[in-house]
Amino acid sequence: MPQPSTNLLTRIRRDAAPAAKRLLFSVGAYDAVRRVRPSDGLAILRYHAICGPEGHAYADPGICVTPSSFERHVAYLASRYCVLPLPEAVAYLREGKSLPANAVAITFDDGYADNLSAARVLQRHGVSGTFYITAGCLSGEAPFWPSEVRQIVERVSGESIALNATGTHVSIPCASPAERRSAIRTVAKLLKSNTIPVREQLRDQLRAAAAAFAPTSYMLTWEHLREMQRLGMTIGSHTMTHPNLPSAGLEDARREIYDSRARLERELDAPVTMFSYPNGGAERYMTRDVARLVREAGFDAATTSWNGFAGAGSDPFALERVQVAERLEDLAFALEVERFAFKPAPRAVAQQ
Ligand SMILES: [Zn+2]
Repeated sequence: MPQPSTNLLTRIRRDAAPAAKRLLFSVGAYDAVRRVRPSDGLAILRYHAICGPEGHAYADPGICVTPSSFERHVAYLASRYCVLPLPEAVAYLREGKSLPANAVAITFDDGYADNLSAARVLQRHGVSGTFYITAGCLSGEAPFWPSEVRQIVERVSGESIALNATGTHVSIPCASPAERRSAIRTVAKLLKSNTIPVREQLRDQLRAAAAAFAPTSYMLTWEHLREMQRLGMTIGSHTMTHPNLPSAGLEDARREIYDSRARLERELDAPVTMFSYPNGGAERYMTRDVARLVREAGFDAATTSWNGFAGAGSDPFALERVQVAERLEDLAFALEVERFAFKPAPRAVAQQ
C-alpha cells in the first residue's frame, strides 16, 4: 500500500534549515498557528528507546531519544497540546466524534527497559502513554532479535559472517566499524524477509559465529509493566517475537498476534486493545490480511509507521504516526507541518 504524503513530508523535514526551525520555535510561531488554527487531527507520536549513547548497544541510534530531550518533549506537549491516552483518542475516531483541539497520543514500540523511566516522566507531567510490548521477549525470556543482532555482530570474530538462508549462501563483511554497522542492517533485513523458522535458523548460525557469547537483555520485565500500569500507562501488543508479519505467513502471523494478546492479558490482568505492527519503515510490514487478523483477535486499533496525523478518515487498524526527533525544535516543526499535509492512509480493512 502506498504512503501518500511521506515523500513530501520527508522532503520538508529534511530540507527545512535547522536555524529556521529554531527561530520559528523561539519566537512562538507554532503557538500562534495553533491559536489561529487548532489541529483537528491526532498526532500519535512514535518513540522507541529513551537512552543515551549506551543504548546504541541494543537499539539503532536512529530510534533513540535521550532522556533529557524526552523530558523536554513531554513538558512541551503537556503544556501546549491535549495529550490523550491512545484508547481514548481511538474511541473518538471509532465513534466519529470530533477530537479535542490539538490532540496528541504518545506511543513506544518494542518494550525496552528504559521505557520505565519514560513512563515515570509522563506520569510526573500528568500525561499517559501507550507501550507496545514484544510479549515473548521481555527480560528473562527469548532474546529480542533486533537487539541480539546488534550485540552479536559487534562480537563476531573474523572478517565476515557466513549465513545460509534456504540454500542461498551469503557472506557479510564485518572487519571495520563501518562494515559492522552495515552488517547489522543486512542481517536484520535478512531476518525480516524470511519466515519465522528460517529466521530462527539464521539466528542459530549467527550465534555460532560469536561462540559462547550470551546477549544481555535490555527489555522490560513483567513487574516493570505492572508498575507502568499503576502509573496509568496503557500496555499494548507488538507481537510475541517481532516478526515481519507478511513474511511470517498467515498462520504464524495469527499465532504472534493472538498469543501476544493472551499472554499480556494473563500477566497484566487487564484488557489489551492496542496493537502496533513490527518492522516499519521501508519494509512491507502489514497487509490487509494481517490487519484483518489484528481486528479478529479483538484489538480495537493498530498503529503503523506511516508518517502523518491520524484523523476522521483514518482506518483504526492502519493509524498513521508522527516519527519523533531528538531535538524538540524538530519535533515541534514536524507537529505543525505534518498536520497540514495530512491525508489518510488507504484503509487496510474494508468496513463491514
Ligand atoms: Zn518494533
